[in-house]
Amino acid sequence: MEEYKLPELPYAYNALEPYIDEATMRLHHTKHHQAYVNGLNAALKKLKEAQEKGDFSSIQPILRQIAFHGSGHTMHCIFWSVMCPPQKSKEPTSGKLHSQIVKDFGSMESFKKTFSEAAKAVEGNGWAVLAWEPIGKRLLVLQAENHQKLVVQGSVPILVLDVWEHAYYLKYQNNRAAYVDGWWNVVNWQEVERRFEVVKNGLG
Ligand code: MN
Repeated sequence: MEEYKLPELPYAYNALEPYIDEATMRLHHTKHHQAYVNGLNAALKKLKEAQEKGDFSSIQPILRQIAFHGSGHTMHCIFWSVMCPPQKSKEPTSGKLHSQIVKDFGSMESFKKTFSEAAKAVEGNGWAVLAWEPIGKRLLVLQAENHQKLVVQGSVPILVLDVWEHAYYLKYQNNRAAYVDGWWNVVNWQEVERRFEVVKNGLG
C-alpha cells in the first residue's frame, strides 16, 4: 500500500509575509500537516490489519480517523496551493470563475464578505470553503468544522481558508478577523480559477 506523503510547499516559508509569518508557515506545514499525513497512514494501516484478520470490531473509530486525518491532509494540500506571494495575487475582474461568482453571489464583494463572515464565525477549529456543487451547478460557501464536518457531500472545494488557531495564533493571537481580512492578499486566484474549470468541466 502506497503511503501518503507531505507535499512540498510551492513557495518559501516566508513567501506569504507579512500576512502569514514564516514561523507559522513552518510549524503549520512540517508539524501540523505532517501529523495528518501520519494519522491517515496509521488509520489506513489499522484498516488493512482489520481486513487481514477479519476482525472489524474497531471499524467505526478507524473510519472516523480516516475521515478526520484524510480531510486534514486534503484540505491542507488545497490550502497551500490556493495561496501565493502577495505581489502575485491578482483578483479576477472577468473570466469564467468571476462570472460564476457574480451569478451565485451577486458580486465579488458580496462573495468575499460572505466567505469572510463564514471564516470568522466557524465555531472552534475549522475552515471556510468555496465549493463547486455539481448537481445544482453552483458555487457554495460552506464552513467545515474540524476538517470534515458540515460539508455538502459531492461538492468540491476550490478555495479554502484554515481558521484553526494553529494557522494564525503566533502572529494574530485571538484576532482571527485580522488574519482573515489580511489573507485575501495572498489568494492565488489563478489556481482557484484552474480548480474551478477542472471541476466544472469534469463533473458539470
Ligand atoms: Mn491547519
